Amino acid sequence: MIVKCKNCLPKEGIDIPDFAIAEKSKLMALTVQSPLHSTKYIIDNFKLSHRDAKYIVTHINKIYGQCNRCKFDHLDEEYMSCPECGALNFNWKTDNGGEI
Ligand SMILES: [Zn+2]
Ligand SMILES: [Zn+2]
Repeated sequence: MIVKCKNCLPKEGIDIPDFAIAEKSKLMALTVQSPLHSTKYIIDNFKLSHRDAKYIVTHINKIYGQCNRCKFDHLDEEYMSCPECGALNFNWKTDNGGEI
């Protein structure tokens, strides 16, 4: 699917893989630990370019529901632009973290 962020290049957005829930959990955890490793993991496992992998990592939410850019915390869709600041968020719902 194509995702777009008004703050980031390329303007036309990028095409992202359909990540399985286990992959989302893994990528979220990796991204919190090390965005660099997460980027490399995406390049190696999903055969994406460095640019696309970095784009994905930049937009993965570290906390479900909370915008990465402005701390707005009522995001309720998976791939959505923040109503406050307009930034794209990969607001993945995974079973990481325990808290509901
Ligand atoms: Zn962005
Ligand atoms: Zn925001």
